[in-house]
Amino acid sequence: MIGPELERLIQLLARLPGLGPRSARRAALHLIDKRDAVMVPLAEALAEAAAKVRICPLCGNFDTVEPCAICTDAKRDQTVLCVVEDVASLWAMERSGCFAGRYHVLGGLLSALDGIGPEDLGINRLVEKVRCDGVTEIILATPATVEGQTTAHYLADRLATTGAAISGLAHGVPIGGELDYLDDGTISAALRARRAF
Ligand SMILES: [Zn+2]
Repeated sequence: MIGPELERLIQLLARLPGLGPRSARRAALHLIDKRDAVMVPLAEALAEAAAKVRICPLCGNFDTVEPCAICTDAKRDQTVLCVVEDVASLWAMERSGCFAGRYHVLGGLLSALDGIGPEDLGINRLVEKVRCDGVTEIILATPATVEGQTTAHYLADRLATTGAAISGLAHGVPIGGELDYLDDGTISAALRARRAF
């Protein structure tokens, strides 16, 4: 029905997160329909990213320069380090515009189920980095999941000997959140983390 090139395009699109075969076909048709406005610039952007994107050797972020733009930004506070699970979390923190320190990307979370231990996440390197780089404050920004919190507690234990102040992100009521829609765990976490007005 369709040629092998288009079949291949659809199969590759279907591998993207959030896209199944049906949405991949729709995306392929959209690309063909908008050949000049979308398809050609997208192909160029993909080729350029594939050729240039690197993993920052200092923090684990993705960028086209090495070290990344965050690590080389002299305006950012070198003494504050935010530990995140992955680059998606790092980019989310950056979108908030509220953090002006540097990052450390773990590349995963501790998981007994998946057999991921401290050595897989390079935690010794993180402890070494905190000691050598003059880091005085560490923010553990792992997810509010069982694995995220297990990882945060393990990191807090391991990093305690460095003398840096260690904190974790608060858990509780999201901005714009109605109490009635929250699960019991979130409400009890918010109650425990209440603050004085
Ligand atoms: Zn970096």
